[in-house]
Amino acid sequence: MTTPKKITVVGASLAGLRAVQSLRREGFDGEITLVGAETHLPYNRPPLSKAMLRGDDDIQLPGAEELGDGWLPGRRATALDAARRTVTLDDGAEVAHDGLVIATGARPRAIGGGARTLRTVEDALELRRELEAGHEHVVVIGGGFIGGEVASTARELGHKVTLIDSGSHPMRDGLGEVAASWLAGLHERSGVELITGTRVTAVEDGRVVLSDGRTVAAGLVVAGVGVTPNTEWLEGSGLLLDDGVVCDQALFASGRADIVAAGDVARWPHPLYGGASVRVEHWSNANDQGAVAARNLLAGPERATPYRDVPNFATSVHGSRIQTAGLPHLADTAEVVAGAPQDDKFAVAFSRDGALVGAVAVNSPKDLIKLKKAIYEAS
Ligand SMILES: Cc1cc2nc3c(=O)[nH]c(=O)nc-3n(C[C@H](O)[C@H](O)[C@H](O)COP(=O)(O)OP(=O)(O)OC[C@H]3O[C@@H](n4cnc5c(N)ncnc54)[C@H](O)[C@@H]3O)c2cc1C
Repeated sequence: MTTPKKITVVGASLAGLRAVQSLRREGFDGEITLVGAETHLPYNRPPLSKAMLRGDDDIQLPGAEELGDGWLPGRRATALDAARRTVTLDDGAEVAHDGLVIATGARPRAIGGGARTLRTVEDALELRRELEAGHEHVVVIGGGFIGGEVASTARELGHKVTLIDSGSHPMRDGLGEVAASWLAGLHERSGVELITGTRVTAVEDGRVVLSDGRTVAAGLVVAGVGVTPNTEWLEGSGLLLDDGVVCDQALFASGRADIVAAGDVARWPHPLYGGASVRVEHWSNANDQGAVAARNLLAGPERATPYRDVPNFATSVHGSRIQTAGLPHLADTAEVVAGAPQDDKFAVAFSRDGALVGAVAVNSPKDLIKLKKAIYEAS
């Protein structure tokens, strides 16, 4: 493949911004068009469920100010013609490219009934207004990291909070039994009412209806029940889509030398995990993949490097820092290797067939660093 002269990046958030910066850093002097559905400069989403709900609006992403003329804010891609190499925008305009970076991320699953979700700065500002309005009872549906952080922040702001999760403990899949059970205890010690092992069947008239017949009265309902990758605009393009854009190890869209994907929207066979197909919804993944995907697009498939970083994630709940590395959910065994849950400071190592595949650390950042290194070396 010849080096591209015109590159379109679709999705102007973390992965898209890092792709643009990487193209420039690599010396690409052709035309870059960055298509972004949002009107803001790319911003950081992690503070939306943390500091921003408490009134801190500093969510600027370093480098966002360097976007230049090619940035088309408030414009949505509606179709890709992969053969003609054009992207159609929501006003009917067509943008031609010879290289394409797909970085359209994901959006929260909506459950209706007025339940709020949290993905954008507008969502966070509305939620903040609601929290400031002083609702008596905040009900959070879904105990994943966003639900957990919202529950934690709402408690900090003095609200009565109920957290509903369909699993036996919030975040059991991502953290494993020991850390998830510790987290459930932390929520309860921090004054969150936990309801687990039951599903929400409806949100209506100021109440949440559960599958076991119970109802919970609610002033404000926030749902964090997972995300859907933004791939609708790619339907009919011929790209392989399966809960994300299916890519090869170097992030090229399956069968294409001129299209790469990065961030929450990308699914790829992870070299560290025997080629297991993964899609990772973490900040560091979007940050690093955006840069690597763009570099690979310039290099072409022959000279591209596989994306093999160990996934990394951190969340803060009720003053405790929970970090993960690797993919704990792939493990068949788990062992506490440092500290103890009762001290609110410990680390768990996760192995599959005897090889280290993941780690969770609670208030133990040094242990996490060591385990992350060991995961990389074990592969
Ligand atoms: C509230 C919240 C808290 C989080 N906290 C953490 C955390 O503590 N730690 C952590 O590791 N991760 C966290 N994350 C996850 C992290 O923010 C994401 O992994 C990261 O934002 C993914 O970046 P991305 O660029 O791939 O996608 P996104 O950030 O989703 O950006 C995609 C962009 O593409 C745009 N777009 C979509 N479709 C189109 C289209 N057709 N045309 C043009 N533009 C389009 C979207 O509007 C959006 O601007 C959090 C996420 C949220 C929402």
